[in-house]
Amino acid sequence: SGDLERARGLIREVPDFPEPGVLFRDISPVLADAEAFRAVVYGMVRQAPEFDLVLGVEARGFLLGAAVAYACGTGVVGVRKPGKLPAVAHRVDYTLEYGTATLELPEDTVRPGQRVLVVDDVLATGGTVLATCELARRAGAEVVGVAVALELSALGGRERLSDLPLQVVFTA
Ligand code: IMP
Repeated sequence: SGDLERARGLIREVPDFPEPGVLFRDISPVLADAEAFRAVVYGMVRQAPEFDLVLGVEARGFLLGAAVAYACGTGVVGVRKPGKLPAVAHRVDYTLEYGTATLELPEDTVRPGQRVLVVDDVLATGGTVLATCELARRAGAEVVGVAVALELSALGGRERLSDLPLQVVFTA
């Protein structure tokens, strides 16, 4: 659609961020545009499997995750970087290209047996999404799919998700 084409054009490419040699894609201008935002949110769920709860990853995954959940009539949980939550249900450490990262799931959010959709802005190596899937599983939930606005296909995230259904709106 025209709105999706415009949304694609609103993705900002920032060379050498957060370090030299990396081309960072910023979807902030997409979210700031009413039609582009709506088109991307609906694009993320158009073919998604049925789910009961959204897990959105800090920070732009909060914005998209809340919109996806509201559009589909489910609840939403913010998966946090370490040190932000007053009560942590589960914590997962994972490996980045250089060093490690940690994500935390708040207490009293995910219930056993719930069908979870994991939402983030960008899928790169897939480490962040996989860690979020692990958090959901530790809480006894079933991860039924992953939805992102933009897949950076050269980084291999899709392969690491193996059979998990993946909804992407844009590929770069
Ligand atoms: P991954 O764990 O390598 O898949 O990286 C994905 C995580 O890093 C997501 O939470 C993204 O928000 C962030 N990220 C990685 N690359 C980019 C980018 O080019 N633009 C925006 N976010 C990115």
